[in-house]
Amino acid sequence: MDERNVRIDSLHPSFHLGKVASLDMLRLDLLHPVVSGNKWYKLRLNLAHAQRSSFRGILTFGGGYSNHLVATAYAAMIYNMPSVAVIRGRYDKLTPTLIACNEWGMELVFVSTEDYAQKTNPQWLNELAASFDNLFIIPEGGDNEWGRKGAGLINRFISSDYTHVLLSVGSGATITGLRNALHAKQRICGFAPMKRGSYLAEHIAQHLNDGQNTNWELFDEWHFGGFGKWNNELINFMNQFYYTNNIPLDIVYTGKMMFGVQELVRRGEFKQTDKLLCIHTGGLQGNLSVADALIWQR
Ligand SMILES: *Cc1c(COP(=O)(O)O)cnc(C)c1O
Repeated sequence: MDERNVRIDSLHPSFHLGKVASLDMLRLDLLHPVVSGNKWYKLRLNLAHAQRSSFRGILTFGGGYSNHLVATAYAAMIYNMPSVAVIRGRYDKLTPTLIACNEWGMELVFVSTEDYAQKTNPQWLNELAASFDNLFIIPEGGDNEWGRKGAGLINRFISSDYTHVLLSVGSGATITGLRNALHAKQRICGFAPMKRGSYLAEHIAQHLNDGQNTNWELFDEWHFGGFGKWNNELINFMNQFYYTNNIPLDIVYTGKMMFGVQELVRRGEFKQTDKLLCIHTGGLQGNLSVADALIWQR
């Protein structure tokens, strides 16, 4: 993971001219081709902790398309630690994501949806962990104390000149870590890619430090039918965005976020003096399932 690859791009003023002072994008997607974006930040303190505490390896959770699983598989390999993924549901055929996980040496364990629902039940976790030898358990999405703290390290790229920081939200770990780490005067806007995503607000608020539960909000309007769902309007937007900015977005998270950002800017939700920074949290491996529809993948 080379942080020197990360940079900030100014977006082409195709829709924000005269509406905001500037609109930039933090290119965390350039961090690494496999461990891209926010995933590395959520993992790094977890892995360091596991190593320091003499755990033999890592056990974590995800679905068949999870960016978190591929990132964990690769990062654990670099740390020379075995990794195990507990996967929700059964697959007749491995997804491209799971094939990649396998390639990086991750052991895949498939459990039923009912069992998977126990993923935060301490007793079930203990039983599960007992069937492996000394593995450190990282929750789904890397959403624990180390994950949030690590995500806060993304603040190193964000100058205090930005009035707004905008990012996509899944488990909420990244927005929580950043809300804790950034100056309270900077407003943070999260975009949920699933239906009724505002349910995440309570979970996020629970983990904010004293004095930091302020100046942030969640939008859940731009889910396009639900998590992992998409339509032609989203594809067309992503192709247009690539055409004007030469930046590929991902279909699950950042595509939906940028669609929402464009809508908010057009509606005049920001001041002309506002300086916006959108975070490209990566996740481009997830585009494999729609590659034919995206102009840069053809
Ligand atoms: C995982 C992921 C997110 C969500 O991050 P959380 O910390 O789980 O909220 C956002 N964008 C991309 C590209 C991701 O892969």
